[in-house]
Amino acid sequence: MKRFDYSRPATLNEAMDAATAPNAALLGGGTNLLDLMKVNVLRPDKLVDVTHLADLDRIDWLNDGSVRIGALVRNSDLAFDPAFAKAFPAVAEAILSGASPQLRNMATTGGNLMQKTRCAYYWDVASACNRRDGSGGCAAIGGENRTHAVLGWSEACIATHPSDFAVPLVAFDAIVEIAGKSGRREVPIGDFHRLPGDTPQIETVLAAGEIIVAVRLPAEARRFARNARYLKLRERTSYAFALVSVAVGLTIENGTISAARLALGGVAAKPWRSAEAEASLVGKSANVESFKAAADILLADARPSGDNAFKIELARRLIVRAGREAAHGTPDRVPALPGSVLATQIGDLAHV
Ligand code: SF4
Repeated sequence: MKRFDYSRPATLNEAMDAATAPNAALLGGGTNLLDLMKVNVLRPDKLVDVTHLADLDRIDWLNDGSVRIGALVRNSDLAFDPAFAKAFPAVAEAILSGASPQLRNMATTGGNLMQKTRCAYYWDVASACNRRDGSGGCAAIGGENRTHAVLGWSEACIATHPSDFAVPLVAFDAIVEIAGKSGRREVPIGDFHRLPGDTPQIETVLAAGEIIVAVRLPAEARRFARNARYLKLRERTSYAFALVSVAVGLTIENGTISAARLALGGVAAKPWRSAEAEASLVGKSANVESFKAAADILLADARPSGDNAFKIELARRLIVRAGREAAHGTPDRVPALPGSVLATQIGDLAHV
């Protein structure tokens, strides 16, 4: 590992000053950053430890019914907060479907959004990787790429974003609150991560020195609490990243869907959502045909980037499965195997 300087600012302003230094990196839970430093993929000159900044580790319920999640709220603390899990069950399920208890105890809200792709070539400094170096090629194209993107990819990069948490956040219109030296701004999370295009090394809209301070879920998202799920297909039952995942929320009146939220994970460099697909569900019965039609719209532009055509059909089937399970009703508690299709059968919910 390369030698680096370490600082622990006492205030947000100091942290932003420190973060503008050339080749500085913010240290939160460190669950991704430190791994990447150990294998020399990330080689910051300076680590800015933000874990002691005041007030960023709070979950605040606002008067308008929305919830503001501080950037330093640990993933476990959020998922196991009873009020949060009740209001946003698909978000809690997504968090608990990821990583391991130890990692979730360390990982933070902001860090989860900033984590790097698990493309094996990105993690191997001997391999060509445009995302890591900004040039040089993409070893995954023509290489081992069965887990890679089927939507939004480019000839420069076919990687996917690994976050589970981000998928329902996108489905439910979360807002990212960002602080910078020129003030604060808010970005809809659907616009926070960038598709690769010609510059896959630029992964988010964050500018140098900017820091995520919170993520806000609007009150509107609570409407879906009774019919919401996050399902995740992976190559082993736990402690694996998604091949495909689905966040879905429905409101159902007299057997008819009156509103729908739907987003896919594991298929692109950002969670994938389509207003048209959601609109197609409105006014329909919550049945297989309706979800199949929505899946066709959401996946209309999907195409393999390698040996991964199977992910398109997998996504189509998972949308139908998640839609049906959401229509059946949110489990009273997060299932024993969060996000797993093995955890529950419709009408036979497994609880911890
Ligand atoms: Fe790098 Fe992206 Fe290619 Fe993977 S898919 S090797 S991250 S450029």
